[in-house]
Amino acid sequence: MSKQPAKEAAPATPPPAPAPAPGAQPAEEKKPEKKEKPKAPKRRVQAGKLYKVDGGSLSRLRKECPRCGRGYFMANHKNRLTCGHCGYTTYTPKA
Ligand SMILES: [Zn+2]
Repeated sequence: MSKQPAKEAAPATPPPAPAPAPGAQPAEEKKPEKKEKPKAPKRRVQAGKLYKVDGGSLSRLRKECPRCGRGYFMANHKNRLTCGHCGYTTYTPKA
């Protein structure tokens, strides 16, 4: 009996590299130039300006937010007081 040699697996030929589509150019990485804006320094609440210590008593210079409670002061605008926390606004009558 002649033993048939095991069928050799056809050598796997790597598929040809896909030809680049005609007309397709290598994507040029073009990034729009970003202009860096100078950032304004973040405003911080100046706690020292919210309170006034008079001798042994402490008084608040800003109105407190009725919604948020203590510690939340209303920002003093020209014609209104606004809470930066919840957005509560009261309009002050024109003087
Ligand atoms: Zn509030």
